[in-house]
Amino acid sequence: MADVAVVGAGAAGLAAAIFAAEEAAHAAADPAPRIVALEGARQIGAKILISGGGRCNVTHEQVSADDFNGARNPIRNVLAAFDADAAKEWFASLGVALKREDTGKLFPVSDSARTVVDALVARCRALGVELRTGARVTAIRSTAARNADGVPAASGASDADGPPARFDVAYERDGRAHVLRARRVIVTTGGRSLPRTGSDGGGYALVRALGHTVTETHPALVPLVLRRGFFHAGLRGISNEAELTTLANGKRIDRRSGSLLWTHFGVSGPLVLDASRHWVLARAHGDTVELRMSVLPGESAEQADARLQALARDRPRASLGRLLAGLVPERLAEALLHAAEVDPATPAAQLGRDTRRRLARCLTELALPVERDRGWDFAEVTAGGVPLAEVDFRTMASRRTDGLFLAGEILDCEGRIGGFNFQWAWATGFLAGRAAVRSP
Ligand SMILES: Cc1cc2nc3c(=O)[nH]c(=O)nc-3n(C[C@H](O)[C@H](O)[C@H](O)COP(=O)(O)OP(=O)(O)OC[C@H]3O[C@@H](n4cnc5c(N)ncnc54)[C@H](O)[C@@H]3O)c2cc1C
Repeated sequence: MADVAVVGAGAAGLAAAIFAAEEAAHAAADPAPRIVALEGARQIGAKILISGGGRCNVTHEQVSADDFNGARNPIRNVLAAFDADAAKEWFASLGVALKREDTGKLFPVSDSARTVVDALVARCRALGVELRTGARVTAIRSTAARNADGVPAASGASDADGPPARFDVAYERDGRAHVLRARRVIVTTGGRSLPRTGSDGGGYALVRALGHTVTETHPALVPLVLRRGFFHAGLRGISNEAELTTLANGKRIDRRSGSLLWTHFGVSGPLVLDASRHWVLARAHGDTVELRMSVLPGESAEQADARLQALARDRPRASLGRLLAGLVPERLAEALLHAAEVDPATPAAQLGRDTRRRLARCLTELALPVERDRGWDFAEVTAGGVPLAEVDFRTMASRRTDGLFLAGEILDCEGRIGGFNFQWAWATGFLAGRAAVRSP
């Protein structure tokens, strides 16, 4: 019998287990509640270990609801309960010193995600949390008594020593089937991104069986694949500042600027990852989607034209290739000139009005021929999940099943690049862990 069973020991699950155990210790509960975390993968924290390029961007200097996609009010409340300062203090208490990068991202001083995983696991062990790896949960059955309408009654199967055992948590381990009885269950099985780490969307069926719905899910923070033969392959490894505008059926649905990385398959980097959800969702809805790039963020085609005119006036003998190389990396300058059907060797003085305008449009609204996203194996998060309306945002308690709590990426909320997704995992884990121990 577990007092709290945590299903999935990723970021949110480890946080939930720690905060549940700390809450119990704080309340000096006697006997100390038994907290068991069941993790399907053999290794704890596989995703944390590869996060942030192996450095784990644990949170951001400033976090607000604007950094997330999802229902604004619950997100705002969750973040207010456990904000970036709370995350920083928490990591300090775990012995993980953090450093801030210019972008506001916070990383462990060690530059190693291993520091984060080790600290979380050590804290679990110190608090007596049982971490069971290789334990894949296959079903969570509510054993609470139900009334004639099938609605769980106020009290579940009776148990003399405390709250009722409301759940049978069935799991497989070492090829054998086991059942853990639990008074409360916190489901933190994540989404569908990077299935090889264990987050394969299996958790959705577990909570559906307990009355929850799950929205459509799509890869987010995902690189985009461009049409073969486009100039991206020749630029692999190059990054530049750019602005991306996503249009669905001709209407602008997103615009943002940042760093874009060219790769052998297409485009990636923080800017593309952040923009990707808009392209992916619009495409999934059947819209005609366009992605336009400007290498002169904030400038219109007319302003770019005026800028080219001024540059050509100042340096009439410079080649267009050299002129543009002052604005963007040299190879990108050449690629953009070719896209505008202009020879990079052309002296600036020979730039005619029509050609100049065509080039200005290439610089500010070049259509990137996106074929598809790169899929779940390369997506950092999942767009979609269990609607936030189905949980109480003060406690992460399910509004569908008593004694059930949800935290982390399984919920319909995802943040932009920068540590926001981990912040969501810690914050929801904090709320769920504490509330689970306190709940009757
Ligand atoms: C490559 C990559 C880099 C990233 N970098 C960052 C970053 O630097 N900063 C940031 O903020 N975010 C980053 N993210 C996103 C971040 O990792 C996730 O948002 C976060 O891990 C979600 O936490 P979670 O605990 O909800 O889910 P997960 O971390 O996905 O954990 C879910 C856990 O549940 C287990 N599980 C699933 N089903 C079952 C089951 N049936 N039984 C038992 N266990 C189960 C899984 O094995 C897994 O361990 C990155 C993601 C990826 C893929």
